[in-house]
Amino acid sequence: MGDLTPTRDRPGLHISKSSPEAPARGSAVCHCGASATATGDAQVRLLVQGWEANHGTAHAKGGSQ
Ligand SMILES: [Zn+2]
Repeated sequence: MGDLTPTRDRPGLHISKSSPEAPARGSAVCHCGASATATGDAQVRLLVQGWEANHGTAHAKGGSQ
């Protein structure tokens, strides 16, 4: 696994979990400029939910941007 962290040039949501015992890690960068990171399964789940509700494809569903 290389460096898959999203950047402004490659917006998106990336989740990684190096082993079943390790906490999940998530990072997200949106084309609108928002970015977020989370560590831990619960936090990553919240990150994903918030991201899908407010960013990423949500922007295409008639958001203000
Ligand atoms: Zn956004």
